[in-house]
Amino acid sequence: MAEKACHGNTPDIPALRRRLADARGPRLWKGLEEAADEPAFRTWLDAEFPAAAQLLDQPHARRTVLRTMAASFLLGGLSACDVYLPEDVVPWVEQPEAMVPGVPRFYASMIPFQGYARPVVIETHEGRPTRLDGNHRHPAATRALDPFTQAEVLRLYDPDRSATALRNGNPVSTAAARSQALNVIQGLENGEAVRLLTGRTTSPTLLRQIEELKQRLPGLRHHVWEPVDEVGPRLRAAEMAFGRPLETRVRLGEADVVVSLEDDLLGAGLMQLDHAPDWAERRRRGHETGDLNRLYVAESTPTLTGAKAADRHVVPSHRVPHLAAAIAADLGVDAPPASLPPEDAAWAGKVAALLERHAGRAVLTVGAHAPAEVQALVLAANERIGALGTTLQTLEPIAPPADGGLPDLVDAMRGGTVGTLVILDLDPVFAAPGVLDFAGALAAVPTSIHLGTYADATARRSSLHLPLAHALETWSDGRATDGTACIQQPVTRPLYGGIEVHAMLEAWLGRPGRTARHAVRRTWRAPLGLDDGEARWERALHDGYVEGTAAENVPPPSVDAPPATLPEPAEERALEVVFGPDPAVWDGRYANVGWLQELPKPITKLTWGNAALVSPALAERLGLSNGRLVEITAEGRAVRIPVWIVPGQAAETVTLHVGQGRHVIGRLAEMGGTDVNPLRPAGGDVLLGATLEVLDETRELADTQMHGSMEGRDLIRAMPAAEVAGHGAAQAEAGGGEAHHETLHGRIFDYEKPGAEPYAWAMSIDLDTCIGCNACVVGCVAENNIPVVGPEQVRMGREMHWIRVDRYFEGDLDRPKIHFQPVPCMHCEHAPCEIGCPVRATVHGPEGLNQMIYNRCIGTRTCSSYCPYKVRRFNWFDYSQPAAPGEEAVRNPDVTVRARGVMEKCTYCVQRISAARREAKKEDRRIADGEVQTACQTACPTQAIVFGDQNDPASRIARAKDDRRSYALLAETNTRPRTGYRALVVEDTDEEA
Ligand code: SF4
Ligand code: SF4
Repeated sequence: MAEKACHGNTPDIPALRRRLADARGPRLWKGLEEAADEPAFRTWLDAEFPAAAQLLDQPHARRTVLRTMAASFLLGGLSACDVYLPEDVVPWVEQPEAMVPGVPRFYASMIPFQGYARPVVIETHEGRPTRLDGNHRHPAATRALDPFTQAEVLRLYDPDRSATALRNGNPVSTAAARSQALNVIQGLENGEAVRLLTGRTTSPTLLRQIEELKQRLPGLRHHVWEPVDEVGPRLRAAEMAFGRPLETRVRLGEADVVVSLEDDLLGAGLMQLDHAPDWAERRRRGHETGDLNRLYVAESTPTLTGAKAADRHVVPSHRVPHLAAAIAADLGVDAPPASLPPEDAAWAGKVAALLERHAGRAVLTVGAHAPAEVQALVLAANERIGALGTTLQTLEPIAPPADGGLPDLVDAMRGGTVGTLVILDLDPVFAAPGVLDFAGALAAVPTSIHLGTYADATARRSSLHLPLAHALETWSDGRATDGTACIQQPVTRPLYGGIEVHAMLEAWLGRPGRTARHAVRRTWRAPLGLDDGEARWERALHDGYVEGTAAENVPPPSVDAPPATLPEPAEERALEVVFGPDPAVWDGRYANVGWLQELPKPITKLTWGNAALVSPALAERLGLSNGRLVEITAEGRAVRIPVWIVPGQAAETVTLHVGQGRHVIGRLAEMGGTDVNPLRPAGGDVLLGATLEVLDETRELADTQMHGSMEGRDLIRAMPAAEVAGHGAAQAEAGGGEAHHETLHGRIFDYEKPGAEPYAWAMSIDLDTCIGCNACVVGCVAENNIPVVGPEQVRMGREMHWIRVDRYFEGDLDRPKIHFQPVPCMHCEHAPCEIGCPVRATVHGPEGLNQMIYNRCIGTRTCSSYCPYKVRRFNWFDYSQPAAPGEEAVRNPDVTVRARGVMEKCTYCVQRISAARREAKKEDRRIADGEVQTACQTACPTQAIVFGDQNDPASRIARAKDDRRSYALLAETNTRPRTGYRALVVEDTDEEA
């Protein structure tokens, strides 16, 4: 099979280097197979589904598909121990107020992520939550949402969520466990040692309840721990530099020059939805003026921020503190002497000069995993360039400090001083660094109470486990990244009988029978004046935030950082292992969410698991190929994991993503990858001194990097900033550049028939502001009922995504440029698929949409083989049938669920066009510009996707199409696509010289 060849053979890396060096002109390649032009790549290029029908005959594969379906679609209402008896049901005689069947209702709420509120709008159909979008009314939010938050709606229905309480690992009724937990708390002697372990929290209600609990139980100490902590280390650094903890916010919208030292500002994480829109807005201003913002990134493994950098410098992680010290010293900070090789020292000098030249409009950042002293040095450097208060904001802490963290809790547990431990929605047995041996410490605690959404590794080892309600099932509150408070309101009853944490804490506080809603209202009684009426409470619920609660912007105090010491420089060729969150499942909290497991990771394009990411140089030296198993050992602990070769990776760096391998929580997580936490060190995320042994075994990984490969020229285009500046729509009207002409050579379908609709729907995707984050992919999956197919099907190129994000490398193996290109259906005016279909199941609509008629399709797949863009998907299995009762709960009722044997593809969210058309007709008007937003467009944090009616010359889409950067993909095939692209813009870096 073709993909076996892709994974099994050791690539001839010296030959590849020569081939890339000899290439004339810019050369784009997706993976080593393509760069080498291997037969495996040719197979992917030539066929739309290279490894075809043989799987239908393989019973094990079919079982996996069914298992995937069962777990990834929703089994709402299924509960492990419930017995359903026949019941009478009575139809409504009176319609509930404001509920019209078929018309969705929307609620503003929030989803917590790392303890901070993500403001969301929840779409519900007849009481079923089906979709989450960002709440753009919230001062800190836009309509966009990252993949994690969008996928919370699928996690809500996850049939593997905990539905049963456990006592010493054995099922008991939730009521019994709940009253036992209450007895434990009530029976505590005054001053007895009790510890509470939570993730970071900003919930005013939870924090108030914890404070009250501390007053009742003077022996209680609250420990806070995040498996991937983006906030705590920065607070510690700020305390070191300013003398008190302050939150810092990089303001990318204000920065002309940003130097990032392994700080993935645009990547997945807490701040992505703040940083990405700001960065893109500044970028768009640069398109007009030619004065583009520039990112300079030093990093060991490619990130989204590195991909968008004007200059990406490859450096091992352990050298980053030295790089920071060198830059700080160049800027006049009293920094310890750095030990750097000449090329790193030169880079440090170059970026320091740039930062100085752009003082007041520049910022230096370093990853949260860097030592606090190094971060404090960077704050001092920022003070020198006038960044504090301009491009680097300082805020009062939004999440208050706790009494301790995980290491001191583990010490206390092991020392026998913890009598009772309460763990709230964390799985430290899985996620804690192996060196802490949390499981061993837990065994020394007499009573442990775990509350969680999954019966995870910690639940199974605790004295008691109680299932927890999901954020869409319970009242709570929280504060967003700007501090503005949100009220979390439930949109469904707990599907699996999960308990509401605030209600349980109320009972522990001696107020049994009080609900979570009571608790939240108690918190907000005074601030919202509830004794005087409900108006402000209702306004807060309606709008999704409480006005006037943003964190105070603090004028930055002067920096007085203590003298820093730098880590000893490592030996040349010392192997370093760097840990980071998995881009798809973060710290493991999303490990059982099918939408996310099947999401190709932005750089590697791996799905369903993780790998040890290695450089081409290391692969060459050790004879590694993709999928080859290695054993990495440090301090007596070892993990076995397959490798994946990543161009642009630092030569001696091995990157491991935590979060995978959380096998016990569910059927999908079981199909995920390897748990690397056992190898993780306790302080910091860089491990030196590990050894790597190559094993004689290969594991086949499920990657998509060659899928959808297109044969053509200039797939990704770029223009110099000077040519773009001021050459937007106005210039285009006067006749723009070459790309412009290729796009606008006449509209083929001018429907002037009487009664014909006047709209011409089109899309434009700006490659310059696309950061490859995958939010559009999940947005489309959620909107269009796109099934999860499982790793075996992905290996055969049968993933069903209607929009994919192609990732290209350009240049040499060790320091390539990285580009992203989202590819939905092109809705061609001259659509080859329409010509190919023998039964006319795909036809051209009057408004330019290339439409599928599902019940006419006989599954010949001719259309797919005719499509040069490889955007059509075939239903090899019947994903439409519910694998279990209630499975269909998450589906969007406005979108047809496709049957087996039917071809499907992006529809331009035609259901949204129809809904807008109905509203416009009722009001006897045209559909307004911006009224139809496709799901991928809504989800995009950088607004890289523009959609609308290109017949309207004032519309955003018409202006985007008239932009000088506009071009058509594979224009040479004369398909005349309605979906177009805007070229990358290459920054002017002359001043670096
Ligand atoms: S187009 Fe897609 S991948 Fe690109 S930035 Fe927008 S959401 Fe992210
Ligand atoms: S337009 Fe709609 S159907 Fe097409 S890729 Fe975007 S979200 Fe998916």
